[in-house]
Amino acid sequence: MRYLLALLLTLLNGSAGAEPLRVFVSVLPQKTFVERVGGPGIDVQVMVQPGASPHTYDPTPRQVAALAQADLYVAVGVSFEDAWMGRIRAANPRMRVLDSSQGIDLRAMEAPDHDGEPGRGHADEGQSKAAHGLGGHGEGESGQGVGHEPQVRDPHLWTSPPLVKQMAVGIRDVLTQLDPGNGPAYAANFDAFSTELDALDQEIRTRLTGLASRRFMVYHPAWGYFADTYGLTQVAIEREGKEPGPRALAALIEQARREQVKAIFVQPQFSRKAAAQVASAIGGRVEVMDPLAADYVDNLKRVASVLAEAGTPNPLSQ
Ligand code: ZN
Repeated sequence: MRYLLALLLTLLNGSAGAEPLRVFVSVLPQKTFVERVGGPGIDVQVMVQPGASPHTYDPTPRQVAALAQADLYVAVGVSFEDAWMGRIRAANPRMRVLDSSQGIDLRAMEAPDHDGEPGRGHADEGQSKAAHGLGGHGEGESGQGVGHEPQVRDPHLWTSPPLVKQMAVGIRDVLTQLDPGNGPAYAANFDAFSTELDALDQEIRTRLTGLASRRFMVYHPAWGYFADTYGLTQVAIEREGKEPGPRALAALIEQARREQVKAIFVQPQFSRKAAAQVASAIGGRVEVMDPLAADYVDNLKRVASVLAEAGTPNPLSQ
């Protein structure tokens, strides 16, 4: 009996050692980061499902139940976490939680000038739900340059490769704490990923050198950290998480004409209605830049290319 018990314990220990670390992340690009640092032995699940907005996501009961088996949750500071982190922690008090936004200097979201229009219901209610949780933000105020409103932090950290490198340091360290035996592998994976991020950063800088226009117009302002890193300015079409009203839309069209904008950028998780209106008014086009794509490195190379294209004067119009 004693022998059998010992054998059983050995088997249990053996199988426990072979178990992959189970990790949950909030958004899809984080899955790539954890897999790059963790290697093939890590099981990563993503909370925000494809096509959903990280600002308003509600985890499913099945996802919450799966947290009971998780070793680690990597948060990033997207808005749904504000409402859900308490319940996520409560679902598994033994689970480690790493907040990748810790230690990063968070920028404020672009606050567009208020256009004095009350927030009216738009046809696209499904999209207008994608608000940035601007609680207490007075609709319809004429924000005449008085900075009295609390600034909303921008949660889209991962659009900047140098910040992803910083996030990857935290991922390497926490994986090593949870699984010291594989520490050398995590360190080597991190080094390889870090080198690739440096090369990506350099390639984007080169691609975006010498553009005639360093401003770009985008429906949902998810590219603030990217813009800050590479000396660009994003102009948001969205107004406090909603489609712009007629006055704001007219002002945007006017601005796009003045600045000779050629492309308006959208992402798949949000409405392209207002972007299409601006684009058609200026004879421009709508382009997709997805901040939630899984293939992080290739996606950012594509983003740099379309921005370079849009910021270069059209030779035919010279
Ligand atoms: Zn967003």
